Amino acid sequence: MAGLVWEKDAEKELKRVPFFIRSFVRKKVEERVEKFQGKSVVCLADFKEAEAHFRSVRGDKSESELRAMMPVENQPGVKMVIIETCHNKLSNCPNVLIDTDEWRKALEDWARENDISERIRARIKNDKIYYHHKFRISISGCPNACSRPQICEVGIVGTVKPELYPDDCTFCGKCEKACPDLAIRVDNCPPVFDFSACLGCKKCFEACRNWCIKLSKPRAKLLMGGKLGRHPHLGQIVAEVSTPLDLLSIIDSALNTYLENGREDERFSDFWIRNFKT
Ligand code: SF4
Ligand code: SF4
Ligand code: SF4
Repeated sequence: MAGLVWEKDAEKELKRVPFFIRSFVRKKVEERVEKFQGKSVVCLADFKEAEAHFRSVRGDKSESELRAMMPVENQPGVKMVIIETCHNKLSNCPNVLIDTDEWRKALEDWARENDISERIRARIKNDKIYYHHKFRISISGCPNACSRPQICEVGIVGTVKPELYPDDCTFCGKCEKACPDLAIRVDNCPPVFDFSACLGCKKCFEACRNWCIKLSKPRAKLLMGGKLGRHPHLGQIVAEVSTPLDLLSIIDSALNTYLENGREDERFSDFWIRNFKT
């Protein structure tokens, strides 16, 4: 398809689009105008119509997310490790249990010092790097998991464990009502916890006025093997760790095993599922 003629005001609007996707957007707008209207000139209304369509497709993705999703030439320097956190800092979220920035920084340092991006890229034979080739790590400050760690190669979720000090318990049942996971029973006795159901969110701690429930030190659950695509898979919990250092030793070992033994073009999560899924 040859480039169409753009009217001045349409061209001006196009310039507002971030530069790294501008040529892509130009191509897509022209495809729509040609396909649906059979025209050879793009006017402002055409651009607005296409923009509305792309916005509905784009959803609420940020600029950096969009940038990471664009296909690029497979050459040294492509950023292959994407580390995201939930937006607890922005929203001052009261649920947060771990300092997501601290964990992210530790992961960024590890990735840089060990040249992880380049080592992952070098094993991809494709001419282009697509989003699904990338190694995604998602960190959520609490079990609400807003950053969707379950569908990334590696997920990290802040958690705590409630501990009961029953001396002042009045059996009021407020902790039971507050628990989103039906993990507490109060039946004329102090609460009984079902730790197989408890996700470690601290709601029961906040509900008890008598300070009968305290919290362990925050920890992080480590998930691996998550992905979407043709065969989606939710990441499985592989460990619970207290510090970023503990986390890094597990991730480093898993990634090295993958880099040494993964099949050609096999992504990390597929490798993990093939070898370690329980
Ligand atoms: S994952 Fe938890 S801490 Fe992070 S934004 Fe969501 S609710 Fe807040
Ligand atoms: S920490 Fe959360 S999930 Fe666990 S028992 Fe308390 S309220 Fe329920
Ligand atoms: S909220 Fe506190 S006082 Fe009430 S039942 Fe639970 S532990 Fe006991």
